[in-house]
Amino acid sequence: MTIPFKRPARRASAEQRQIELQGEIVDYCLVRSVRRSIGLSINQRGLRVGAPLAASLARIESLLRQQGDWVREKLARWRVHSALTLDVGSECLWLGQPRLLRRAAGRVHQCRDGQLELVARADEPDLAAAFIRFCKARARPWFLPRLAHYAGCLGVPTPPLILSSARSRWGSCNAQGEIRLSWRLMQFDPALIDYVVAHEIAHLKAMNHSPQFWAIVEQLYPDWRAARFTIRNLTRQLPQLD
Ligand SMILES: [Zn+2]
Repeated sequence: MTIPFKRPARRASAEQRQIELQGEIVDYCLVRSVRRSIGLSINQRGLRVGAPLAASLARIESLLRQQGDWVREKLARWRVHSALTLDVGSECLWLGQPRLLRRAAGRVHQCRDGQLELVARADEPDLAAAFIRFCKARARPWFLPRLAHYAGCLGVPTPPLILSSARSRWGSCNAQGEIRLSWRLMQFDPALIDYVVAHEIAHLKAMNHSPQFWAIVEQLYPDWRAARFTIRNLTRQLPQLD
């Protein structure tokens, strides 16, 4: 009989993982490198766990559980902090691309050279409100053609669109066939926005999440499983914009 033996990775690596700590799902970035001990830190992206190349996941997770209170308290503070500091020099996501925020010199928002230049009002302490305006103004013109596209694929008329501010309910469809989409989706890659649009369009044919519904989604958007998974992960990482 041979005993399966998994060789530890020899090179530094980073991966996104999740763990449940006291009932809360916590995302973290596990960075393996040549080091002796496991270290926890909070950076601008959240919790980072540095671990030796050969450290077992069980050992890493056991340490995270031991330090559960510390982790959750630090993360809570980080969330408040990251919500307040969408300002010059912060990184935001625009259509899935990281952009460095700058204050616009002129009167128009501009997106160029990896930067997003936003016009803030005199009474605004940071760029969060300007970023929200930027997303809102572009959401409807972005969503409408996508709705028309997927409605066309399904052979139904393009439904009315209502813009929402929902944080995790990215889209919804009511019995009247009206579709709500959150302007916050503008932070997502266009392919992910398409998944949400295709999902809601599919509800025009099936107002539930039955196998029949998913078959329609599959027809409209074959890669729906991966998109759904990615969106779930992203939802926890976006800044709390108010
Ligand atoms: Zn649904």
